[in-house]
Amino acid sequence: VAKSRARGSVVPYAPRYGEDIASKYSLEGSLRDALRNEDLDIHLQPQVELSRNRMTGAEALVRWPDGEGGFVSNAKFIPIAEDGGLIVQLDHYVLRTLCAHAVSWGADLPPGFRLSFNMSAIGFQDPYCAEKIMEIIGDSGLAPHRFELEVTEQAVMTDFSASIEKLIRLRDYGIAVSLDDFGTGYSSLAYLQQMPLDRLKVDRTFIREVETNAKSASIARAIIKLARTLGLDCLMEGVETQGQLEFCRLNGCQHVQGYHLYRPVAPDELIKVVHNHASRR
Ligand code: C2E
Ligand code: MG
Ligand code: MG
Ligand code: MG
Repeated sequence: VAKSRARGSVVPYAPRYGEDIASKYSLEGSLRDALRNEDLDIHLQPQVELSRNRMTGAEALVRWPDGEGGFVSNAKFIPIAEDGGLIVQLDHYVLRTLCAHAVSWGADLPPGFRLSFNMSAIGFQDPYCAEKIMEIIGDSGLAPHRFELEVTEQAVMTDFSASIEKLIRLRDYGIAVSLDDFGTGYSSLAYLQQMPLDRLKVDRTFIREVETNAKSASIARAIIKLARTLGLDCLMEGVETQGQLEFCRLNGCQHVQGYHLYRPVAPDELIKVVHNHASRR
């Protein structure tokens, strides 16, 4: 809107930085309203276990309807939520929303099917982060082992010993923990070894070129092997082609997530997708 106005004849000149600041603040205000009015929802992206071609879980991804049938891009508003002090509220909102949907799915959700949710680095550093997560899940009445927390290397590395404590508490409670976007952060292998984790989610940049670039393929293989050597489950993110899927299978990566398998789906479609997958195997 700001751009088209600036290009039109009414406002002949508006400095670009001015526009950016204005649109940033209006977006932050709208996000605040959207959270208050509970206008945000989630989509769920299925995850598949390669050896048995079984759908084993799904990741909750926040969605903010833009009022025109689409969604505001996460890449655009999540940084604004972080800067504006809204991200902790957003993360809790998403987890509560996930719980509410899961309660409504009830027994239609297959046993062992795991629901993962993301926690921002800022949210994870909150001293009561673990308690808050346990409180939300506890209030839902759902079993904690239904859930998986996704944290990034950055989130864990910021205050390493406090993070370890939180992760231990959450795992004791029954929640699985995965390290998201693995390989893009700045945690060293020495730290990785000490993290109480269940799964590495390999960042999608590592799978992108495995079919065309031998060095890429070597690095992807090494990361999968690293996960397995550490006794962690390995999930490849962003699998977009059959060739990439075969690469994962061939190299012992147990789980995959990506557009080649399933795009994120609306909550009321999840159960249908789960059952269709099971019947097509
Ligand atoms: P992420 O946690 O790594 O989630 C995966 C992102 O990759 C999702 O984007 C998903 O739609 C996308 N994706 C999945 N498969 C493919 C594929 O095959 N190709 C490509 N190119 N992309 C694929 P989305 O939903 O736009 O979310 C982007 C990021 O926003 C997430 O990355 C996560 O960091 C963040 N995010 C999403 N929901 C939440 C939330 O509730 N809280 C927080 N703190 N962050 C969230
Ligand atoms: Mg994630
Ligand atoms: Mg990820
Ligand atoms: Mg990512």
